[in-house]
Amino acid sequence: MTSNACGEFPEFEKFAFLELAWKQEDECEAETDDLIPNMGVRAPACLEQVGTVLSLLDRMATCWWVCRRGDHLVEYLCGRVVSNARATLRMLRFGFYDEALLLCRAMGETSNLLQLFATDKESLRSWKSASRSERIREFGPAKVRIRLEKQTGPSVNKERYRLLSERAAHVTPDTKPQSHNALGMPTAVPIIQEAGLLVCLNELALALSTATAFGALVLELDDELRKRITSEARALIENIGGATITEIDEYHRRVMESSRAQEHRKYVAEMLRRIHDDRRNS
Ligand SMILES: [Zn+2]
Repeated sequence: MTSNACGEFPEFEKFAFLELAWKQEDECEAETDDLIPNMGVRAPACLEQVGTVLSLLDRMATCWWVCRRGDHLVEYLCGRVVSNARATLRMLRFGFYDEALLLCRAMGETSNLLQLFATDKESLRSWKSASRSERIREFGPAKVRIRLEKQTGPSVNKERYRLLSERAAHVTPDTKPQSHNALGMPTAVPIIQEAGLLVCLNELALALSTATAFGALVLELDDELRKRITSEARALIENIGGATITEIDEYHRRVMESSRAQEHRKYVAEMLRRIHDDRRNS
């Protein structure tokens, strides 16, 4: 271990750095697990219902109730959403909110595709038989949204997809990693940021609930089972809070403009700085 030019922070390399990184992530995870039960009513209820819907989707993906035989392609799509959702939960507990949102974007793409298959049966047959170029042209994320807009509208619409893309998928000159706070301050180590945590949880809940509900329709599960799955997916949607990717920037803007928030902003800035320094020194 050596020190940097300022002699202020120790420098870690090889496995020492990896062990430091994993320790920081484990600490963020433990703090997140302690925090969520105390984040009001809706967030803990939302997380609990994520567990129920994820369990249902996991069973849909693995022929728990019935095996339809055949190519299992729809089951595989359900399985992809299950693993995306489980990884999202890991990322949000480790403080990797940008990466969690990237997975929510992927889940949203699959959810929209399942919605299209649920509302247009011929589209599933076309998707299966399409060549690679036909599939890109006819079933790319934008094309699927446009097709759904002619029906009831996509569950993950253009604005939400754009915000998730700008926030998590594509880098721009405005990119600030892990800046999920009112100050827009980027952070270099995994630390809890309540806004980021809530946005990730709510975006996960939206994509997971819609993918599960539409997946149950495409799988043509029996009526009683499908009703139960739809009911649980609806209960998850009802527990989605106000902090979402489409609302969070406006919320932060209001916080920054409020004179009463001056003290709070100073507190947040100091807290972020202190946690950041503590983590780097640990
Ligand atoms: Zn099967």
